[in-house]
Amino acid sequence: MRLSKLPIATLRETPAEAEIVSHRLMLRSGMVRRLASGLFTWMPMGWRVARIVERVTREEMERIGAHELLMPAVHPAELWRESGRWQDYGDLLLKMRDRGEREYCFGPTHEEVVTDIARRELKSYRQLPVSFFQVQTKFRDEIRPRFGVMRSREFLMKDAYSFHLGEESLREVYGHYREAYKRVFERLGLKYRVVQADSGEIGGSRSQEFHVLADSGEDLIAWCDGDDFAANLELAPALPPEGERAAPGAAMSEAHTPGMRTIRQVAAHLDRPAEDCLKTLLVKAEGGGVAALVLCGQHEVNELKATALPEVAKPLQLANAQEVAQAASCPPGFLGPVGLRVKTYVDHAAAHRANFVCGANRRDKHLVDVNWGRDLPEPETADLRNAVEGDLSPGGGGTLEIARGIEVGHIFQLGDKYSRCMNAAVLDENGAERHMQMGCYGLGVTRTVAAAIEQNHDERGIIWPEAMAPFSVVLVALNAARDENVRATAEQLHDSLRSQGVEVLFDDRDASPGVKLADADLIGIPHRVVVSARGLVACFVRAGTSALTLPPILPEKGGGEWLQLCA
Ligand code: ATP
Ligand code: MG
Repeated sequence: MRLSKLPIATLRETPAEAEIVSHRLMLRSGMVRRLASGLFTWMPMGWRVARIVERVTREEMERIGAHELLMPAVHPAELWRESGRWQDYGDLLLKMRDRGEREYCFGPTHEEVVTDIARRELKSYRQLPVSFFQVQTKFRDEIRPRFGVMRSREFLMKDAYSFHLGEESLREVYGHYREAYKRVFERLGLKYRVVQADSGEIGGSRSQEFHVLADSGEDLIAWCDGDDFAANLELAPALPPEGERAAPGAAMSEAHTPGMRTIRQVAAHLDRPAEDCLKTLLVKAEGGGVAALVLCGQHEVNELKATALPEVAKPLQLANAQEVAQAASCPPGFLGPVGLRVKTYVDHAAAHRANFVCGANRRDKHLVDVNWGRDLPEPETADLRNAVEGDLSPGGGGTLEIARGIEVGHIFQLGDKYSRCMNAAVLDENGAERHMQMGCYGLGVTRTVAAAIEQNHDERGIIWPEAMAPFSVVLVALNAARDENVRATAEQLHDSLRSQGVEVLFDDRDASPGVKLADADLIGIPHRVVVSARGLVACFVRAGTSALTLPPILPEKGGGEWLQLCA
């Protein structure tokens, strides 16, 4: 592609609306343009990359025997009423009416439509297992569309669905999808983790997410290299500490802690580490009233775990001032488990502390050297907190590491959630009707492009993994208008690279060398060939990418952080 013929301006300025690097770089390099909130046009440069992700994904779907089809983007309301999701999917679902006042939605996902196909087409266990996939535009009316195409309202997803007679077959095919997804992200050259995940409103029993690791990721994930454990932080168990609790020491006493409502203030005032200072949260209880959660000062309560307790109301909500006043005669900062007469759950780590500090349930007072089993009864323990770095791995192979990730794929074992309510059944070996077991597998094509940039960039621009680069080579002709030799050499190189089948972005614009080189940095193509009057051809190959065979023309030279390909 000749840049002189591509009417897209790269931007020097950082667009004000862009909050994260990938969004900034995609706008600046002309990959996408915003139409309205959560709606983007994929410009030629960006679309090339999205199509690479799509192609690699399609190849891996075909490799495991999934059949490609294309379902409608617009779905009749009746189907969504059958599954119950016309209501349950909530405000994410964009609903509309046609001229006959019939109701429709724009598909945010396709379980209903594919289950309808399956119940019409599949009659016998002999047709199973079978998988279908599509690459299609979804619409979700996200509350807060942001970060460009990372969380847009309209986006491209590869979604696949599998149908089975029994659970064993579902598990086996689910395994094939997991391996296929791994191959996709490996082939794209991305660093990723497969993590245990919550199934959300799609439902079903088992699911895993694929996360591209990046500091800007919205999700926290915990993993251990020693044992392959990896989970979304909200699901990662925090194991009880090992060993015996220390023995009680000095007798319990009361300390004056005027106005000190935070763990940090109390710890500093009493000269104790935060883990010695227990915090007590009053939360709304199921069916009215309040319950107390006690954790070590440095730990954070985990909503999913806390609300799984029978006494704790969902969603997790702190008690209001009136409820706190009813339970104890002090403000929240001075709450503690000693003498507190509400249902109390104590996190394993807090239950393992001896000689700890906690609120005294009196304004401006804390208790010091408190011990379970001595100053108050042995606690009822639970896992209440988010795991932290250095915690023991549930897999037993070492300690946990924690990093941020971007969810780019999600695979589920759905079971009969949709086949039952939509009555999708086949005849089994004995001629009896059985609801099919289903799996569903989503991969965010457009989000993967943004995630790749979050993971691979520097202050000058994008650094595409080789497999995702929109072009293999950027050919930059410097001052070609002034130098016929440069122009002719560049044209010749362009022709011969193209005849070798190399995808070349040819910067033949009448622009300054500074602009051209800055744009090449911004667009981030792994191989760069610069033609200039001085030295004529210099070829640069980014470290770690494959070699490029140039037609033999003239001596080359190179430098900087780019490796010189030819001596
Ligand atoms: P999230 O938790 O980020 O909202 P999700 O769990 O609702 O996503 P899934 O239903 O699992 O998403 O969809 C499958 C894939 O589609 C996701 O892994 C993600 O890559 C992509 N995806 C989902 N929502 C969006 C969005 N708003 N913009 C771009 N891609 C998205
Ligand atoms: Mg998901």
